[in-house]
Amino acid sequence: MADPGIQIEIEYEAAPRGAEQAVSCAVKAVLEAEGAAGRYPCVILTDDETIHRCNRDFRGVDRPTDVLSFPADEGEALLTPPDGFLGDIMISVPTAGRQAESLGHSTVREIAFLTVHGMLHLLGYDHIAAEDEELMLSRQRVIMAEVEPNLIEYAEENCGREFSMNESLISEMINKALEAREKAYVPYSGFRVGACLLSSSGKFYLGCNIENAAYSPTNCAERTAVFKAVSEGETSFEALAIASDSDYFTYPCGVCRQVLCEFCADSMPVLCANKDGEHILTTLGALLPMAFSKEDLVK
Ligand SMILES: [Zn+2]
Repeated sequence: MADPGIQIEIEYEAAPRGAEQAVSCAVKAVLEAEGAAGRYPCVILTDDETIHRCNRDFRGVDRPTDVLSFPADEGEALLTPPDGFLGDIMISVPTAGRQAESLGHSTVREIAFLTVHGMLHLLGYDHIAAEDEELMLSRQRVIMAEVEPNLIEYAEENCGREFSMNESLISEMINKALEAREKAYVPYSGFRVGACLLSSSGKFYLGCNIENAAYSPTNCAERTAVFKAVSEGETSFEALAIASDSDYFTYPCGVCRQVLCEFCADSMPVLCANKDGEHILTTLGALLPMAFSKEDLVK
């Protein structure tokens, strides 16, 4: 069957670019995962006032919320419309944006997540009883794992706090990373690495790798920079540069990517340089897709 006609209505003018693709990608992933090809919803991206009004009028809850679902067959499950219409999903973009900010990911990612949540409701899932909730959350996790890789390319330009690198900041940060490399304590590997982390307050935190005779207590340059910053009260970051003595670009190791993911958005620019300061510019989300993060700590 051809792509079912997903209807998307964007009532909220400041919806981030990529929101529409995120909704469509999330809807398709749910239809596929749930074996519901041929069905389709109408997804409405709206504001807090509209969702507040609907929450009050239809649910008797007098406050805004993130997502509401209105199944087409509510109360009359056997009367599903023959054209496959599943019902309406209403998402508040400003609420999605606030939740995204507090979870440290993009608004587009949050909109995709809320679409998946709303779609599962339309397909009959709910989270009132504990065992139903467990099932619904596990379906959400499986489906989001399918959706997320498709969101990364949008997320880079659609993060709530957009931050762009310019040439002078790029060379300043790479020079600082090269300079931080000079302090590396590497009697065992001889492989010096330096990092420069820019905090949201505008301060640079430098780090180098620090090895140890017992090997495993060794700390990388990136984590040294993160730990220095966090220990001084900084928990929000805009960009990272890494440099070593290699002719090749130096990328953060897996452990450092995970530590960075605790504090930095997927869209955070990461500069990976070689000894001459030549570099590539990537993002944390590209370096660590489908990361395990605080939002996965639900049971
Ligand atoms: Zn590392």
